[in-house]
Amino acid sequence: MGTGRVARELSGRRVRFSLQTRILLVVLVCVVVPLLLMGAYLLEQTEAVLGAKARETVANHLHRRADALDAWVQERMREASSWSGSFIVYEGVESLQRPGGDDARDRQDITGYLEFVLGHYQVYESLFVVDLAGRVLASTRDEELDPWALDLLRKPMPEGTVSPLRRSGRLSRPTMLVLHEIRPRGEKGLEAVGARDGKVIGYFVGRIDLDALEGQLRGSSGEIEPDFWLLDEKGRILIEKGRLAEEPGTKPFPAGLPEAGARLEPREASLPDLGPTVYGLRELAEPLRGYLVATVPASGAYRPLEESRSRLVKAGIPAVLVIFALAFVLARGMLRPILLLSEGAQRVSAGDLDVHLPVRGRDELADLTSAFNDMARRVRESRDELAQAASALARTNDQLEAAKERFRAQAITDALTGLFNRRHFEDTLDEQIERASAEGWPLSLLLLDLDHFKQYNDRWGHTEGDSELRRVAALVQRTVRSTDIAFRYGGEELAVLLPSCGKDQAVGVAEKVRQAVGSGTQRPSRFGARTTVSVGVATFPEDGRVARGLVDTADAALYQAKALGRDRVVAAGGPSGDGPSHEERATG
Ligand code: GH3
Ligand code: MG
Ligand code: MG
Repeated sequence: MGTGRVARELSGRRVRFSLQTRILLVVLVCVVVPLLLMGAYLLEQTEAVLGAKARETVANHLHRRADALDAWVQERMREASSWSGSFIVYEGVESLQRPGGDDARDRQDITGYLEFVLGHYQVYESLFVVDLAGRVLASTRDEELDPWALDLLRKPMPEGTVSPLRRSGRLSRPTMLVLHEIRPRGEKGLEAVGARDGKVIGYFVGRIDLDALEGQLRGSSGEIEPDFWLLDEKGRILIEKGRLAEEPGTKPFPAGLPEAGARLEPREASLPDLGPTVYGLRELAEPLRGYLVATVPASGAYRPLEESRSRLVKAGIPAVLVIFALAFVLARGMLRPILLLSEGAQRVSAGDLDVHLPVRGRDELADLTSAFNDMARRVRESRDELAQAASALARTNDQLEAAKERFRAQAITDALTGLFNRRHFEDTLDEQIERASAEGWPLSLLLLDLDHFKQYNDRWGHTEGDSELRRVAALVQRTVRSTDIAFRYGGEELAVLLPSCGKDQAVGVAEKVRQAVGSGTQRPSRFGARTTVSVGVATFPEDGRVARGLVDTADAALYQAKALGRDRVVAAGGPSGDGPSHEERATG
């Protein structure tokens, strides 16, 4: 099998796409695909822009929030510093530690001061003063320091400090303290305010209202709203999304802390518990010593992207459908003439020439359709002409056949008698011998000769002779069987072939013929006698196995019949048949 054939068979098996499908595919490839690619590109760009914007926003928020938080803490430190340096406070503490003083009154003085201050500041839940061992000397409410807070007192804090945000066992909740040393400075007068050379006699403690701290870390307003987290220096969560952690400092921030020295720029990652998140960290200055974190869920940061994506889908799908519908309608309109042409061509190829396609418009397809109609019309006309010519030819052919048949009949017929002629006798004899030989049948031959016919002619003329000859021929034809074949052998001699007819039977037939001729009403001959015939009979195969032999034998028998006196039948090789009287023979 050649490669070409294989290729043809394969291509024959391929799916057949209609022109319309192909046009729609082209539209899909040329319009819809670029549209989708462009949309995808725009979305990608938007995503990049939004990502950058989200990171920038996070960085800005972090920056501002950290500064605000620092300022807030510094404010608390300044307040503690100022209040711890109050005359009432250090005088009271000194007096309380001096033996023999009026402790109740001192306490009342300090408490009064603390309550006065607390009343003006919403940031604290209580204010109190402790001695060097951490025992509460005066307070705005019942207070006590947790052991971890007592530890803070062991380190010097000339500028004051802020405690870590830690759980208070006593309060059973997180808490945060601002602490400041209390030093007496009375002996150096007013100019000594803020001096640090005096001995520490106690500590001023403010318990910060954590609502106020939470307030510093509440979400901010804006297009992108980050959540703020406060972590301790080891990266454990103190405040989570603006809310106090239940157990501050136990759970690590999901993203962990960046390695030392790494840049703290905002980034995007999928974090445990939080999912895809844009987040940034910022290290906080003393005394907080921790990290401020801002997080934005990616879904929030990319909300505009989602919106434009859904807008794109909402606008894109109808647009694509409209483009397709338009392409479909246009393609149909364009293809209609082509489909009609294809249908017309198929009809023509199937033999239906009565096709006329509607011609619309003035474009190339209209030209093609007109040309197709012309072509179909011409083919139709040619077909009709051809059909006419064919029927004329058929008529001529029939006539020719008839003429041929006539000529053939004429060729084997004797014009005078209407019997078969001599030539046909020769052919038929050969045929009949062959058949008889093949079938094992006998075949007999009668040779007839009119007696004294010359005299008849002489008496009545040749025209009469001819009609007498015709009469005899007709008699012979009538007398023999339908299967027997009569011929004019020549002149006034006739021959009859009798297929499947043995000699005896043939002699009987010959006799019947002889009698029929002799008994007919006819004009007498010159000597008054009526027309008679002599007959010689020969039979295949006994009297001759070939045509010539059989004829010669029959001829010899005929000669014998003449010799014996005419008007008789003589069979070859047998006794002479019946005949007329001796006298009649003598006159012949
Ligand atoms: P017989 O046969 O008895 O010996 O005598 P006959 O006179 O018939 O002799 P023969 O057979 O020799 O002569 C044949 C004659 O038959 C000669 C001719 O005048 C006549 N004849 C032959 N053919 C035709 C023909 O076509 N028309 C007519 N009218 N006569 C014919
Ligand atoms: Mg003769
Ligand atoms: Mg004769």
